Amino acid sequence: MTSPTLSGKNPVRVRFAPSPTGALHLGGARTALFNYLFARHHGGEFVLRVEDTDRERSTEESVSGIFDGMNWLGLEWDSGPFYQSQRMERYLEAARTLLSSGHAYRCDCSPDDLEARRKEAMAAGLPPRYDGRCRNRNVPADRPHVIRFHNTRKGDVVVSDLIRGNVTFDAEVLDDLVLVRSDRTPTYNFAVVIDDADMNISHVIRGDDHINNTPRQILLFEALGVSLPAFAHIPMIHGTDRTKLSKRHGATSVTAYRDMGYLPDAMVNYIVRLGWSHKDQEIFSRAELIEFFDLDHVGSSPSIFNPEKLLWLNAHYMKTSRGTDLLPQLLPFLPEEKDPLYPGSKDSGPGAEHLIRAIDEWKGRTRTLLELGESLQPFLDRHFAYSPELAKKGFTAENIPVLREVYRRLEAVELWDHDHLSEALKSLVQELSLKLGQVASPLRGALTGQTVSPGIHEVMILLGKQESLSRINRAIEHLGETS
Ligand code: GLU
Repeated sequence: MTSPTLSGKNPVRVRFAPSPTGALHLGGARTALFNYLFARHHGGEFVLRVEDTDRERSTEESVSGIFDGMNWLGLEWDSGPFYQSQRMERYLEAARTLLSSGHAYRCDCSPDDLEARRKEAMAAGLPPRYDGRCRNRNVPADRPHVIRFHNTRKGDVVVSDLIRGNVTFDAEVLDDLVLVRSDRTPTYNFAVVIDDADMNISHVIRGDDHINNTPRQILLFEALGVSLPAFAHIPMIHGTDRTKLSKRHGATSVTAYRDMGYLPDAMVNYIVRLGWSHKDQEIFSRAELIEFFDLDHVGSSPSIFNPEKLLWLNAHYMKTSRGTDLLPQLLPFLPEEKDPLYPGSKDSGPGAEHLIRAIDEWKGRTRTLLELGESLQPFLDRHFAYSPELAKKGFTAENIPVLREVYRRLEAVELWDHDHLSEALKSLVQELSLKLGQVASPLRGALTGQTVSPGIHEVMILLGKQESLSRINRAIEHLGETS
């Protein structure tokens, strides 16, 4: 282990610790990704821990949504999932240890008293913290009480952060934190420290929004006599208007992007660049990410979420993926067929080969799987619809004579390949003194029902001679009826 960022326990063991109170958002996914890549880069372990001590706000649905999102992005964890809700006894045991070592005490101040004293302190211009009244009162265990941390530290607590450098806090303002509530549930800061200690976490990599918790956690580690993990707080993600990312900026949950037809590799590639860079490289394979990722190139200012760039990256991944790899991901986006052109294509039957060829022709022209699925409709179904755009672009009865002529010439083509098709159309264009567009546009409309498509010869080869001719006939009829 030679990396300069590796100052913490050995070996590397990191964790992603979501609270299951909602979907896996881009920020959470980035935290998970950074932890995953850090573990893989250093040959360490990636632990998944579900922080579900808040029984009111935690839901099963959020747990499975978070797991789905991680699985979709390929962020495999090595250990867990561990659930804090199943470790309640352990937190109470740790609290008893702190009580007996004098690092914690029982407090029976009522919420009303606390509130009144807080107001008094504020009115007197003092910081509104717990006044330590119960520290030496030996509150009996059979009275309703909370367990507080006995904070005796004075001076500075320095968080030596791998991303932000040294961040200094005044120990006295850190308060006698509640560790266990009166209902015997642990607070966040307490459960996290016990878990990070028990799970031998070497590096705590998490969002910047936790930086104020870190000095409190450091004091707890010290009280427990456990050596500190290294800390790395990742800056927030903002929208293009430079405010904290929220629903206002569009979809923020990772699975919403899956459902809109984004590819997981594009998503990973996009998310990793929210805060991390490697020279000026933009596109990374998974193997490259694992090879290059480390914390020394994570920036310390917020990153900006730019949906346009994500779409651009997705289009790039669409274009460069192989049709065979896209097919399984595309299946949920393919329309129902009434009269399938390639029967069985969706269940890797004999038609799959045709479908893969169609995907390969189309993938470079669409930006998402959703767009690709829609564009492929005429290649799956004989009953495709004519786009309303076509008529606007001149697909009218005036095209009937040229389509009749195209039909006549194509019918005579024996070898249905690129050269012969190109030859047939070229001679038609020359002999009738037309421009290629005057033939190709109506022909494209007839074959696909759309105004854009891959090259017209590729389309005809994909459809085959019989289907191409029957579509030209159908278009002639359609245009005759609509005139
Ligand atoms: N459960 C916390 C959250 O979802 C993360 C805690 C941590 O990483 O320490 O924000």
